[in-house]
Amino acid sequence: MKRPILAANWKMNNGPTAAKAFMSAFLENYQPPGDRTVIIFPPAVDLITVAAATAARTDVIAGIQNIHWAEKGAFTGEVSAMMAKDAGARIVLVGHSERRHVFGETDAQCAKKCLAAAKVQLPFMLCIGEKIEQREAGETEAVVMRQLREGLSQTPNLISAEFMIAYEPVWAIGTGLTASATDASAIHTLVRSELKQMIGTRANEIPILYGGSVSASNAAGLLAAPEVDGLLVGGASVEATSWLTIAQT
Ligand code: PEP
Repeated sequence: MKRPILAANWKMNNGPTAAKAFMSAFLENYQPPGDRTVIIFPPAVDLITVAAATAARTDVIAGIQNIHWAEKGAFTGEVSAMMAKDAGARIVLVGHSERRHVFGETDAQCAKKCLAAAKVQLPFMLCIGEKIEQREAGETEAVVMRQLREGLSQTPNLISAEFMIAYEPVWAIGTGLTASATDASAIHTLVRSELKQMIGTRANEIPILYGGSVSASNAAGLLAAPEVDGLLVGGASVEATSWLTIAQT
Protein backbone atom coordinates (compact mmCIF):
# COMPACT_ATOMS: atom_id res chain seq x y z
CA MET A 1 0.00 0.00 0.00
CA LYS A 2 1.40 3.38 -1.03
CA ARG A 3 1.62 6.28 1.39
CA PRO A 4 -1.51 8.43 0.82
CA ILE A 5 -0.85 12.02 -0.26
CA LEU A 6 -3.14 14.77 0.98
CA ALA A 7 -2.35 17.99 -0.89
CA ALA A 8 -3.70 21.49 -0.28
CA ASN A 9 -3.72 23.98 -3.15
CA TRP A 10 -4.47 27.38 -1.66
CA LYS A 11 -4.57 28.96 -5.14
CA MET A 12 -4.39 32.78 -4.70
CA ASN A 13 -5.54 32.77 -1.07
CA ASN A 14 -3.73 33.40 2.24
CA GLY A 15 -0.87 35.93 2.28
CA PRO A 16 2.14 35.50 4.58
CA THR A 17 0.27 36.60 7.73
CA ALA A 18 -2.62 34.22 7.08
CA ALA A 19 -0.19 31.47 6.06
CA LYS A 20 1.64 31.74 9.37
CA ALA A 21 -1.62 31.58 11.33
CA PHE A 22 -2.85 28.65 9.21
CA MET A 23 0.34 26.64 9.74
CA SER A 24 0.28 27.23 13.53
CA ALA A 25 -3.38 26.20 13.78
CA PHE A 26 -2.90 23.19 11.53
CA LEU A 27 0.32 21.86 13.04
CA GLU A 28 -0.87 22.36 16.64
CA ASN A 29 -3.95 20.25 16.01
CA TYR A 30 -2.85 17.77 13.35
CA GLN A 31 -2.80 14.23 14.72
CA PRO A 32 -0.84 12.46 11.96
CA PRO A 33 -2.46 9.11 11.21
CA GLY A 34 1.15 8.07 10.54
CA ASP A 35 0.59 6.66 7.10
CA ARG A 36 0.50 9.79 4.94
CA THR A 37 2.26 12.81 3.51
CA VAL A 38 0.62 16.23 3.60
CA ILE A 39 1.65 18.82 1.00
CA ILE A 40 0.78 22.52 1.23
CA PHE A 41 0.94 24.47 -2.05
CA PRO A 42 0.72 28.14 -0.95
CA PRO A 43 1.13 31.22 -3.15
CA ALA A 44 4.84 31.77 -3.90
CA VAL A 45 5.11 34.70 -1.46
CA ASP A 46 4.26 32.30 1.41
CA LEU A 47 6.70 29.59 0.49
CA ILE A 48 9.42 30.57 2.96
CA THR A 49 6.83 30.85 5.76
CA VAL A 50 5.30 27.42 5.05
CA ALA A 51 8.69 25.81 4.51
CA ALA A 52 9.95 27.20 7.84
CA ALA A 53 6.86 25.93 9.66
CA THR A 54 7.37 22.42 8.26
CA ALA A 55 11.20 22.32 8.33
CA ALA A 56 11.36 19.82 11.17
CA ARG A 57 8.90 17.39 9.60
CA THR A 58 9.10 14.80 6.89
CA ASP A 59 5.34 14.12 6.76
CA VAL A 60 4.23 17.72 6.06
CA ILE A 61 6.02 19.50 3.21
CA ALA A 62 5.78 22.74 1.26
CA GLY A 63 5.30 22.95 -2.49
CA ILE A 64 5.01 25.69 -5.10
CA GLN A 65 2.01 26.13 -7.41
CA ASN A 66 3.97 26.93 -10.58
CA ILE A 67 7.46 27.52 -11.96
CA HIS A 68 8.97 28.88 -15.15
CA TRP A 69 10.98 26.47 -17.28
CA ALA A 70 14.02 28.73 -17.66
CA GLU A 71 16.79 28.73 -15.07
CA LYS A 72 16.88 32.52 -14.77
CA GLY A 73 16.67 35.67 -16.85
CA ALA A 74 14.27 38.29 -18.19
CA PHE A 75 10.96 36.68 -17.18
CA THR A 76 9.34 39.30 -14.97
CA GLY A 77 7.04 37.83 -12.35
CA GLU A 78 8.27 34.26 -12.74
CA VAL A 79 10.11 31.89 -10.41
CA SER A 80 12.52 29.14 -11.54
CA ALA A 81 12.65 25.58 -10.24
CA MET A 82 15.95 26.22 -8.48
CA MET A 83 14.64 29.39 -6.83
CA ALA A 84 11.56 27.50 -5.61
CA LYS A 85 13.78 24.77 -4.23
CA ASP A 86 16.03 27.31 -2.56
CA ALA A 87 12.96 28.87 -0.88
CA GLY A 88 11.94 25.49 0.53
CA ALA A 89 9.67 23.90 -2.09
CA ARG A 90 9.94 20.14 -2.07
CA ILE A 91 7.53 19.63 -4.96
CA VAL A 92 5.97 21.73 -7.74
CA LEU A 93 2.50 21.62 -9.31
CA VAL A 94 2.66 21.60 -13.10
CA GLY A 95 -0.27 22.18 -15.46
CA HIS A 96 -3.00 22.91 -12.93
CA SER A 97 -6.22 23.48 -14.86
CA GLU A 98 -6.23 27.17 -13.94
CA ARG A 99 -2.75 27.50 -15.42
CA ARG A 100 -3.90 25.73 -18.56
CA HIS A 101 -7.30 27.34 -19.04
CA VAL A 102 -6.97 30.80 -17.46
CA PHE A 103 -3.35 31.46 -18.48
CA GLY A 104 -3.24 29.39 -21.66
CA GLU A 105 -0.49 27.00 -20.62
CA THR A 106 0.07 24.30 -23.24
CA ASP A 107 1.15 20.66 -22.99
CA ALA A 108 4.50 21.67 -24.50
CA GLN A 109 5.03 24.26 -21.77
CA CYS A 110 4.03 21.73 -19.09
CA ALA A 111 6.63 19.35 -20.53
CA LYS A 112 9.30 22.07 -20.27
CA LYS A 113 8.32 22.73 -16.64
CA CYS A 114 8.52 19.01 -15.75
CA LEU A 115 11.95 18.92 -17.39
CA ALA A 116 13.08 22.04 -15.49
CA ALA A 117 11.96 20.52 -12.18
CA ALA A 118 13.57 17.15 -12.89
CA LYS A 119 16.85 18.86 -13.82
CA VAL A 120 17.19 20.25 -10.30
CA GLN A 121 15.74 17.15 -8.60
CA LEU A 122 12.57 18.98 -7.60
CA PRO A 123 9.70 16.44 -7.66
CA PHE A 124 6.67 17.53 -9.69
CA MET A 125 2.94 16.80 -9.67
CA LEU A 126 1.55 16.92 -13.22
CA CYS A 127 -2.16 17.82 -13.33
CA ILE A 128 -4.35 16.43 -16.10
CA GLY A 129 -8.10 16.51 -16.71
CA GLU A 130 -10.81 17.05 -19.27
CA LYS A 131 -13.20 19.99 -19.71
CA ILE A 132 -16.96 19.39 -19.59
CA GLU A 133 -17.39 19.70 -23.36
CA GLN A 134 -14.63 17.14 -23.88
CA ARG A 135 -16.31 14.79 -21.42
CA GLU A 136 -19.66 15.22 -23.14
CA ALA A 137 -18.05 14.53 -26.51
CA GLY A 138 -16.60 11.25 -25.18
CA GLU A 139 -13.04 12.61 -25.37
CA THR A 140 -12.02 12.21 -21.72
CA GLU A 141 -9.65 9.32 -22.28
CA ALA A 142 -7.98 10.90 -25.32
CA VAL A 143 -7.50 14.27 -23.59
CA VAL A 144 -6.13 12.82 -20.39
CA MET A 145 -3.76 10.44 -22.21
CA ARG A 146 -2.47 13.26 -24.44
CA GLN A 147 -1.81 15.52 -21.44
CA LEU A 148 -0.04 12.67 -19.66
CA ARG A 149 2.14 11.62 -22.59
CA GLU A 150 3.02 15.14 -23.73
CA GLY A 151 3.52 16.46 -20.21
CA LEU A 152 6.06 13.75 -19.42
CA SER A 153 7.63 13.64 -22.88
CA GLN A 154 10.69 15.81 -22.06
CA THR A 155 11.54 14.46 -18.61
CA PRO A 156 14.91 12.73 -18.75
CA ASN A 157 15.19 9.32 -17.05
CA LEU A 158 11.47 9.25 -16.37
CA ILE A 159 11.88 5.82 -14.85
CA SER A 160 13.83 7.28 -11.95
CA ALA A 161 12.26 10.77 -11.80
CA GLU A 162 10.29 11.75 -8.70
CA PHE A 163 6.79 12.70 -9.80
CA MET A 164 3.08 12.30 -9.15
CA ILE A 165 -0.01 12.69 -11.29
CA ALA A 166 -3.17 14.52 -10.25
CA TYR A 167 -6.33 13.70 -12.21
CA GLU A 168 -8.54 16.76 -11.90
CA PRO A 169 -11.55 16.89 -14.20
CA VAL A 170 -11.91 20.60 -15.00
CA TRP A 171 -15.70 20.48 -14.60
CA ALA A 172 -15.24 19.35 -11.00
CA ILE A 173 -12.79 22.06 -9.93
CA GLY A 174 -14.42 24.64 -7.70
CA THR A 175 -17.91 23.71 -8.90
CA GLY A 176 -19.17 21.46 -6.10
CA LEU A 177 -19.41 18.63 -8.67
CA THR A 178 -17.21 15.63 -7.98
CA ALA A 179 -16.34 12.61 -10.10
CA SER A 180 -17.79 9.46 -8.56
CA ALA A 181 -15.28 7.17 -6.91
CA THR A 182 -15.95 4.69 -9.73
CA ASP A 183 -15.30 7.25 -12.48
CA ALA A 184 -12.15 8.50 -10.76
CA SER A 185 -10.89 4.92 -10.36
CA ALA A 186 -11.52 4.19 -14.03
CA ILE A 187 -9.37 7.13 -15.17
CA HIS A 188 -6.67 6.39 -12.59
CA THR A 189 -6.51 2.81 -13.86
CA LEU A 190 -5.99 4.11 -17.41
CA VAL A 191 -3.30 6.50 -16.23
CA ARG A 192 -1.53 3.71 -14.36
CA SER A 193 -1.61 1.44 -17.38
CA GLU A 194 -0.22 4.20 -19.63
CA LEU A 195 2.54 4.84 -17.07
CA LYS A 196 3.35 1.13 -17.17
CA GLN A 197 3.88 1.44 -20.92
CA MET A 198 6.34 4.25 -20.25
CA ILE A 199 8.23 3.10 -17.17
CA GLY A 200 7.22 -0.50 -16.47
CA THR A 201 6.68 -1.61 -12.89
CA ARG A 202 7.97 1.69 -11.51
CA ALA A 203 4.48 2.93 -12.46
CA ASN A 204 3.16 1.12 -9.40
CA GLU A 205 5.09 3.55 -7.18
CA ILE A 206 3.77 6.73 -8.80
CA PRO A 207 1.03 8.33 -6.69
CA ILE A 208 -2.09 9.24 -8.68
CA LEU A 209 -4.22 11.81 -6.85
CA TYR A 210 -7.79 12.87 -7.50
CA GLY A 211 -8.87 16.51 -7.32
CA GLY A 212 -12.12 18.36 -7.93
CA SER A 213 -14.45 19.69 -5.20
CA VAL A 214 -13.08 17.38 -2.54
CA SER A 215 -14.63 18.21 0.84
CA ALA A 216 -14.74 16.79 4.36
CA SER A 217 -17.86 14.86 3.39
CA ASN A 218 -16.60 13.13 0.23
CA ALA A 219 -12.88 12.75 0.98
CA ALA A 220 -13.08 9.34 2.69
CA GLY A 221 -15.06 7.74 -0.15
CA LEU A 222 -12.70 9.06 -2.82
CA LEU A 223 -9.58 8.12 -0.88
CA ALA A 224 -10.86 4.57 -0.45
CA ALA A 225 -11.42 4.11 -4.21
CA PRO A 226 -9.11 1.70 -6.05
CA GLU A 227 -6.09 3.41 -7.65
CA VAL A 228 -6.76 6.70 -5.81
CA ASP A 229 -3.52 7.34 -3.92
CA GLY A 230 -4.38 10.76 -2.58
CA LEU A 231 -6.37 13.95 -2.94
CA LEU A 232 -5.55 17.43 -4.27
CA VAL A 233 -7.85 19.91 -2.58
CA GLY A 234 -8.44 23.56 -3.51
CA GLY A 235 -11.28 25.52 -1.90
CA ALA A 236 -11.65 23.27 1.15
CA SER A 237 -7.94 23.58 1.98
CA VAL A 238 -7.78 27.36 2.36
CA GLU A 239 -9.01 27.40 5.93
CA ALA A 240 -7.14 25.40 8.61
CA THR A 241 -10.11 23.72 10.34
CA SER A 242 -11.59 22.40 7.12
CA TRP A 243 -8.16 21.26 5.91
CA LEU A 244 -7.43 19.53 9.21
CA THR A 245 -10.54 17.36 8.86
CA ILE A 246 -9.61 16.37 5.28
CA ALA A 247 -5.92 15.80 6.07
CA GLN A 248 -6.92 13.40 8.84
CA THR A 249 -9.50 11.56 6.73
C1 PEP B 1 -7.66 22.47 -7.18
O1 PEP B 1 -7.45 23.68 -7.09
O2 PEP B 1 -6.75 21.71 -7.54
C2 PEP B 1 -8.99 21.95 -6.84
C3 PEP B 1 -9.20 20.67 -6.99
O3 PEP B 1 -9.91 22.86 -6.43
P1 PEP B 1 -11.28 22.53 -5.68
O4 PEP B 1 -10.98 21.52 -4.59
O5 PEP B 1 -11.75 23.84 -5.13
O6 PEP B 1 -12.23 21.96 -6.68
